[in-house]
Amino acid sequence: MELTAEQIDRAEGVLLGTAAGDALGAGYEFTHPGPDVVIDMIGGGTFDWAPGEWTDDTSMAIAVAKGAAEAGALHEEAGLNAVAAEFVSWWDSKPPDVGFQTGQVLQWRSPTGREMQVRAHDLGGLKAGNGSLMRTAPVALAYLDDPEHCMKAAAVVSSLTHYDPQAMQACKLWSWAIRHAVLHGTYDGVREGLSSVDAGFWAPLLDTAENGGPEDFPKNGWVVHALQTAWWAITNTDDLPAALELAVRAGGDTDTTAAIAGGLLGARWGASAIPERWRGLLNGYPGYRADDLVALTHRIISR
Ligand SMILES: [Mg+2]
Repeated sequence: MELTAEQIDRAEGVLLGTAAGDALGAGYEFTHPGPDVVIDMIGGGTFDWAPGEWTDDTSMAIAVAKGAAEAGALHEEAGLNAVAAEFVSWWDSKPPDVGFQTGQVLQWRSPTGREMQVRAHDLGGLKAGNGSLMRTAPVALAYLDDPEHCMKAAAVVSSLTHYDPQAMQACKLWSWAIRHAVLHGTYDGVREGLSSVDAGFWAPLLDTAENGGPEDFPKNGWVVHALQTAWWAITNTDDLPAALELAVRAGGDTDTTAAIAGGLLGARWGASAIPERWRGLLNGYPGYRADDLVALTHRIISR
């Protein structure tokens, strides 16, 4: 697909925005920063991150992106196998911060996507965590010319670890929004995407996010409240840095809510909207810096 310079900037913003939100929130995870706390890429936090270092959210998004760069279609067997293999490689690097649900699946080191899906499906009693929504952003990059299969891919990539209708629908909705934002530079895709999910469930949740506050969606380790926190931060601010800061200020799973917001913010405002200083600080698994995220993006969109 032939992209304009503006669309390329916005495509580059998807992974960079994810990483920027993740690294900004990393130092505040599981806290509720008060109004006097300065929000910056300070690192630290539960896992003692380096300043500008991203966490599992971006590392797993990179795994999805690498699968897309290698195999193209993620809704097909080869693509899903490629992502599964990248997840196992990341697991084998012994990351400090594997989400509980994700760890329950990846510990089996499944050799195929199908087998990983079955492991996820067979997990009993777990709630719909935010661990697949946090890494869904790059799915959109692989399907800029194919909305139908984008939805299918968002659901199956979620199901590798989060085989849950709420998680899969959240990934579909957000991936639709990101794809639309890259192509058109608006957030209209958030509401348009309701056509691909249970709109009766999701539409009121979006209303609450736009008109309410973090007290209305406090359990943001849950995929539903995580999506609401991200959408609240986006719709209650005017630019990318302010929205990421607000997502962090909501507290709780700050790196993840800001990473989720960052994927859509980057798709809407482009790589050029990410402050240069942040861009210079970004780093993380697998030894990448900001320019590596841009190069990986180009491998996907030029396929
Ligand atoms: Mg994280």
